[in-house]
Amino acid sequence: MTELSKEQIEGYQLYLKLIHERMLDKFFAEQAPYLCCKDGCSHCCRKGQYPMSEIEIKFIMIKMSALNQNIQKQILYNIQKVIKEKISTNQPKEKFFYQCPFLLNDSCSVYENRAIICRTHGLMFFTEDKDGKEKYKIPYCVNIGLNYSNVYDTTLKTVTDELWKKSGIKTPPQAYNLSLKTLTNKNITQELGFEFGEIKPLIEWFM
Ligand code: SF4
Ligand code: SF4
Repeated sequence: MTELSKEQIEGYQLYLKLIHERMLDKFFAEQAPYLCCKDGCSHCCRKGQYPMSEIEIKFIMIKMSALNQNIQKQILYNIQKVIKEKISTNQPKEKFFYQCPFLLNDSCSVYENRAIICRTHGLMFFTEDKDGKEKYKIPYCVNIGLNYSNVYDTTLKTVTDELWKKSGIKTPPQAYNLSLKTLTNKNITQELGFEFGEIKPLIEWFM
């Protein structure tokens, strides 16, 4: 992979600052009564695909190269382990789930430079089905009593107005448009001097 230029890094850093200030920090604050995210909670980094674009993985690698040698070795070992698992299970990339190799001792070793999907994770969000119809998605950890579980009906498998009203929480549970398609839109990022580039599961960047 070619290195990022100074302009690309600065443009991407500015973009991250803007999406935090204008969207993410506000959304997480609004939804705080429904969220259980805290240091040391890492279920969401233990089984996933972590789709990332070229610029995101390069930005992560910048952070990794500044970590101490032992930590870097551990990450490289984790990457090789996931690659071996992928080869031995022979799963297509859409069906292969794994622990993120950057997760060390239940903590993200590249936190400051983590990808967009890591920054948005935890909130309810919209996604589009095959026919382009919007539907909302609840983070998987609702099933283990974490995010949104205080307003989640386990029989109906959805968040309900009834449970929200009973909860006494003022702000309703809300789903946001956090699709990578929207957040990596070329028209926005070009003005900042960078493009996200190809998006693929994290491990594919090392194969
Ligand atoms: S999204 Fe869920 S699993 Fe991940 S940190 Fe938040 S509460 Fe924990
Ligand atoms: S990069 Fe960090 S936050 Fe993102 S999935 Fe990996 S360990 Fe979790």
